[in-house]
Amino acid sequence: MNIAKKITLLFAILSAVIITLLSGFVWYFSNEFAFEDFYKRLEARVNIAAEIKFSDDKNNNAYAKVRNQYLERLPDEKEYFIEKNGTSIPKFEMDLPKSFFDNINAGRLSRYRKENHFYAGKLVTRNQQSYIVIVSANDPFGFRELRDLQKILIVGFFLSVFTSFIVGWKFSNYMLNPLRNIIKSVKKIKAENLHLRLDVKGTDEMSQLSQTFNNMLNRLETAFETQNNFISNASHELRTPLTIISGEVELAIRNEDLSDKQFRALTKIRDEAERLEHILTSLLGLAQSGFNGQNQPWEQVRMDELILETQNAVTQVHPESKIEIDFSQLPDDESKITLKANRNLIKLAITNIVSNACKYSNNKPVLITLESKLNVLSIAIKDQGIGIPQGDIQHIFEPFYRASNTSPFKGYGIGLPLSLNIIRLHRGSIGISSQEKIGTEIKVLLPIS
Ligand code: ADP
Repeated sequence: MNIAKKITLLFAILSAVIITLLSGFVWYFSNEFAFEDFYKRLEARVNIAAEIKFSDDKNNNAYAKVRNQYLERLPDEKEYFIEKNGTSIPKFEMDLPKSFFDNINAGRLSRYRKENHFYAGKLVTRNQQSYIVIVSANDPFGFRELRDLQKILIVGFFLSVFTSFIVGWKFSNYMLNPLRNIIKSVKKIKAENLHLRLDVKGTDEMSQLSQTFNNMLNRLETAFETQNNFISNASHELRTPLTIISGEVELAIRNEDLSDKQFRALTKIRDEAERLEHILTSLLGLAQSGFNGQNQPWEQVRMDELILETQNAVTQVHPESKIEIDFSQLPDDESKITLKANRNLIKLAITNIVSNACKYSNNKPVLITLESKLNVLSIAIKDQGIGIPQGDIQHIFEPFYRASNTSPFKGYGIGLPLSLNIIRLHRGSIGISSQEKIGTEIKVLLPIS
């Protein structure tokens, strides 16, 4: 999940939690206090009902007058007068809980609510006889208010979460945009255009990040230039004496007065000079491919043609090799097998892998399969050779590394690292699967776009 989505989600979750807590708080206290007023009115009616019922002034009951004049009848209002016998719970038409009567027996005003029906009661003692006086009624207003509040809280919850989602999304985009611009600019900088720099505006953290990148690019460019110079100097400085040695030895070998011992010594010097030249060429190729592909042009390369060229190149050097090619999985669309590449380098990379397959299988058949799926070209090179011991597989892309089973074969351990560098230069990757004494399959994956 990207950072913008994470921030948006965090915003939405945070506001959902806060709004839920706040709504719960409001709901709880509204529930607690919404009926307080109604209970008070019921309790007043309990007192008045008791006074009216047990008043001595039977004919001119002042309380009855007050009630009739000033107190409206509550919806479904009822009065109950129960004679109390000991502490047993009296029989009542409604199922009221024991705690309700316990409170009354303890001399307190007691309350109880069942859905929208409210009860208030108290104990009244007249002429040594105790009575339980209960008044019950409905409270339509309190209930309606609570229901309205519930609706408001639910709508408010969804509105706030939605708003914070939108705000979070806008906010994260606003905050991350400069970072996205930096990423876009950095992606454009490659080995070929290392002189490019990022825009630095202002002094905030993003500008500091751009500045840091620029400083790093300065150092990288200097290092690349140094390496570039070293390679061309080394190439010249090492190649010249080597060519002289080879030339001189070649001349010396032609001398017919040489003894056998001298001839053998000179032949060995010539072979080793050739070997050194080969290593030097591979090493320079490896160094150059690792960072720099601009010396040769990049062009649209049809990979099926390149595979055929590779097959020719390998069979020219090793005529006894048997290379089979499988193009049966290829799509008709030419654009799906064409990619922008450095033709010579990519050919060198594939040739190295195919030559290895022929070499390490003693020229048993090698199968090259070319496929194109989901904008990725895959070139699989499969042999039936000696395979690579399990412990060596992870090291074979390291320069000069050779697996433990390769002693009968000539090699320097440079070909595969060189191929990997070239494939990486083309934003591709190499996969390998191998079983000792059974064979090896090396798969090169290259993105098309
Ligand atoms: P080398 O000159 O030794 O062939 P590479 O860099 O081309 O050097 O290969 C590195 C090592 O990887 C080889 O020494 C060998 O051990 C192993 N290897 C590469 N390809 C194969 C293959 N097709 N079969 C077996 N081993 C291989």
